[in-house]
Amino acid sequence: MSVRTRSDRPATLVILGASGDLTRRLLLPGIGSLLAHEPDRDVRVIGADRDSRPDGDFEAEVRAALTEGGAGATCVDRVAGSSSYVSLDATDHGALTDLLRAAAAPAPGSEAAEHDGERRVVLYFALPPAVTAKVCGALCDVDLPAELHLAMEKPFGQDEDGARALNALVAQLVPDDQVHRVDHFLGMTTVLDLIALRFANRMFQAVWTGEHVAGIEIAYDEQIALEGRAGYYDHAGALRDMIQSHLLQVMALATMEPPASITERDLRDAQAAALRATRLWGGSAVGASRRARYTAGRVEGVDDGGRAVSRSVPSYVDEDGVDPARGTETLAQITVEVANSRWAGVPITLRSGKALGGANKHVALTFAPVRHLPGGLTGADPEDRLVIGLNPDTMELRVTTNSLDDPLALGQSVLRADLRRASLAPYGEVLAGILDGDGMLTVRGDAAEECWRICDEVLAAWDADEVPMEEYPAGSAVPEGWGAALG
Ligand code: NDP
Repeated sequence: MSVRTRSDRPATLVILGASGDLTRRLLLPGIGSLLAHEPDRDVRVIGADRDSRPDGDFEAEVRAALTEGGAGATCVDRVAGSSSYVSLDATDHGALTDLLRAAAAPAPGSEAAEHDGERRVVLYFALPPAVTAKVCGALCDVDLPAELHLAMEKPFGQDEDGARALNALVAQLVPDDQVHRVDHFLGMTTVLDLIALRFANRMFQAVWTGEHVAGIEIAYDEQIALEGRAGYYDHAGALRDMIQSHLLQVMALATMEPPASITERDLRDAQAAALRATRLWGGSAVGASRRARYTAGRVEGVDDGGRAVSRSVPSYVDEDGVDPARGTETLAQITVEVANSRWAGVPITLRSGKALGGANKHVALTFAPVRHLPGGLTGADPEDRLVIGLNPDTMELRVTTNSLDDPLALGQSVLRADLRRASLAPYGEVLAGILDGDGMLTVRGDAAEECWRICDEVLAAWDADEVPMEEYPAGSAVPEGWGAALG
């Protein structure tokens, strides 16, 4: 589905952190995916970091990444050819002044130079979070281009107070509708499908309430283990890495009230209202949260890219770079309630973990049983369920039917749909909106604070050891008793 209104205005994307993992693996290929769909899009890329790269080095990287993302050769030549690289310390306000002046100026030799005065400049913070905060401070002393847009990566702050302080700092620079807190889950095909499924289907619209839904599970169980990312992950853990940002954003889309229109303002209002109404189930992190970490084991299956995985994984605490004293969890689950008239009393379980055997990545609604089962029907009434796969992109509706051999005995039938389309990579979808100055698929400041509010209470209980750390062997299914909504 197309959720965007495309703008024809040219844009310059300035990436602070050009040599980083995010830029190489996700951002530049994301632009490649966008250009595969919109080859005439006018985007200029400027990369910056503290390295001092030889001439042509960054251009070659851009060229390779755009090609990897699917952009055609002519388009790659044009966009990579207009890209440039600057070596700087992004916390230095003099260097930032020069960089932003260059970003807003016509590209040297650009055929479209006459349009360059109207270029929208997007400053993308692909930086370590502590550096991002310093750069925002330095930008306070810089004469900013008109209508500068800021794209900020997760984590946005380290807790609710930190997110509020960062929001206040950023508010000194540009209005909030020019700040894009990036969460690429909002660009996933089936996450966006929630909008059409919920609001353009009478049969789902009618039953998408606590009257008919007994529980919701939003899970993103990964097979990959630490994969050398201890430097980041051991300080974050599964709750901060996945639930605090991605899964709460998905939950907001799955539970929000119907917006009057699918536009930045209405959609963000509806999402923020759902998050504001969210409470821990039972009012306490003890009982509403679980945490665990993996011990040694073997992971077999298929990874996020559809590749077969079969590898031995050491115990998390024995992984390179892990400090066991930090007590970092690799599997986290919280159960919440959206305390409003639509959802009160419905448990919503959010879970994510690493090195798991079963790849459950979905939004799953379990429907309540019918109020009265006509006499004469035999057998237990199986739970009816709608499961929207987040990777791969699928939809599965489990409905009660008669069993194969007895028309009066209850059984279950499964209707499956493949929702994969030739759609943009999630980063491409999100970047398209940002380059167009449309924040609809990015996170508003108040929503970012709400996500931390929900998780801070859990993190405090975990820090106080009020919730035990469980263990699971790498490659095993989610431990017994987890995943409340699906039983
Ligand atoms: P990396 O550590 O791989 O890259 C950081 C980049 O920032 C490097 O290019 C580094 O280059 C540059 N940098 C650091 N300090 C400065 C400075 N003072 N001035 C200019 N450049 C600087 O981090 P990631 O790419 O992994 O992550 C970047 C952001 O994206 C983080 O906020 C992260 O949480 C987020 N993110 C990352 C994901 C991923 O999969 N990697 C996924 C989702 C979000 P140099 O040191 O040469 O200056």
